[in-house]
Amino acid sequence: MLARRAAVIAVAVLLAACSRRPQPLADPALTAEIAGIRAIDNHAHPVRVVSAGEQPDRDFDALPVDNMEPQSDPVGLRPNAPGILEAWHALYGFAGRDLEGGRLTDAQALQQRVEKEKGEQYPTWVLDQIGTAVMLANRVTMGPSIQPPRFRWVPYADALIFPLDNAQLAAANSDRKSFFDLEDVLRRRYLDAVGMKTVPPSLAEYLARVVTPTLERQHSGGAVAEKFEAAYLRSLEFDKVERGAAEAIYARFAAKGPAAEAEYKPLEDFLFRYIATECGWLGMAVHIHTNAGAGGYFHVGGANPLLLESVLNDPDLRQTRFVMLHGGWPFTREITALLTKPNAWLDFSAQDLALEPAALAANLREWLEYVPEKVLFATDAYPYIPEMGWEESGWMAARAGRRALAMALTGMLRSGEITRARASALARMVLRDNARALYALAGGRAAK
Ligand SMILES: [Zn+2]
Repeated sequence: MLARRAAVIAVAVLLAACSRRPQPLADPALTAEIAGIRAIDNHAHPVRVVSAGEQPDRDFDALPVDNMEPQSDPVGLRPNAPGILEAWHALYGFAGRDLEGGRLTDAQALQQRVEKEKGEQYPTWVLDQIGTAVMLANRVTMGPSIQPPRFRWVPYADALIFPLDNAQLAAANSDRKSFFDLEDVLRRRYLDAVGMKTVPPSLAEYLARVVTPTLERQHSGGAVAEKFEAAYLRSLEFDKVERGAAEAIYARFAAKGPAAEAEYKPLEDFLFRYIATECGWLGMAVHIHTNAGAGGYFHVGGANPLLLESVLNDPDLRQTRFVMLHGGWPFTREITALLTKPNAWLDFSAQDLALEPAALAANLREWLEYVPEKVLFATDAYPYIPEMGWEESGWMAARAGRRALAMALTGMLRSGEITRARASALARMVLRDNARALYALAGGRAAK
C-alpha cells in the first residue's frame, strides 16, 4: 500500500513537472517596469536635420565608418538584421512583412514624411519613440535640432593627440589612411577656431594656444565629456611620459616631417594624459572606445581595456572620470576587474546591437554583481547602413538593452541574490541614476 501510494505521488510529481511551462527568461512585471523607465543614453550619434539644398550632416562622427575596406559584418549590423522591420513598423508605421523588393524605398519614404512633418523636432521625437530622456550626442558639432536638454554634447579629442605630420602612421593600411585624413581635417578645424593655420613650433605653445583653449571652448559649449576613438588609430596603452621628452619629440618632428610610430607614441601618450587631466579640472568625463572594430584592419588586442590600467592608476588622473564605451567587448571579464577603480565606469553601447540579449545579459549580470553603480545604459545609435539609421539602431539597441537588463535581473532574483525591490533599484541605476550622478544631471527636468 505504501509502495503504491509512493508510486502515485511520484507519477503526480512527474506529470506536474512535465506540464509546467518553462519560466520566461525575463520576469514579465520587471520587463514592463523597465520598459517604463525613461533612459539616459550614455553614447550615441544622432544625425542632425538638414534643410533642403544643405549638405547631408557628416558631423555625427569624427571618423565615419562608411569608407572602409569590406569586412565580414556581424549579423546584427547587416541589411537583413532581425529587428529592422520591427523598428520601421514602430517608428514609421511601416506595414511590410519582409525586406525584399523596394521595401527600403518604401520605408525611407515613410521616414522622410515623418521627418518633414516634425522638422527640427524630429530627433527629439525619435528619443520619445525609444523611451530616452537624454541622449549623449557624440558629434563633432551640435546643431539646431540636436540641443540640450534632451541632447548633451560629447566632442572628439583624438585630433589633438596627433598634432604632427601623420603620414607614416597613415601608411599602415587603407583604413588608417582614411582615418588619419579625417583627423587632419578635424585638427585644421580646431586650429581654425583658435585663429591658427598650422601648429606652433613648441609643445608649450601648442598646449597653451590650441589644446587647452579647444577643451575650454567645448566645455563652455556644453560638452559633458571628451571622446577618444584612439583604438581606431593606435593601442590604448598610454604610458606616463615626462614633459621634457614630449617637448623634444614635438620640436624635432614639428620642424622635420613625419615621425615613425615608435618615435611619435610618447608624445601622443603625454598629450592623452594632459587632456585627461584638463578634463578632470573642467569637470568633463573622458569617453574611450573599448571594443573590437571598426573595420577589418582594427587591432582588437590594442583595444583591451586592461591597457588603460596605468592611466586609471595614475594619482594625477584620479579626479578624471573615465567611461569605457561598449563594455570592452570581447574583454568583458577584464573590464569587470577595472570597475573597482574609483575613476572607472563602463557602458554597454553596441553590445546591445551586436550581441543577442541573452549574451549581453550574462555580461550585465557579472557587472551588476560586482560594482553596479558604474554600469551605464547606452545604444551607439548610428547611421550604419541605409536600412539602419541612427533611429532604427537606437530603437533596436534600446529594446535589446532593456531585454538584457530584465533577463540579468530576473536571473539574480531567481537565484535569491537580490530582492524584488533591489531589482527595481538596479534597473533605475543602469538606465538613468548612474548617469545622472556621473554627469551631475540630477535635479534637472532634462533627466526626467
Ligand atoms: Zn559610437
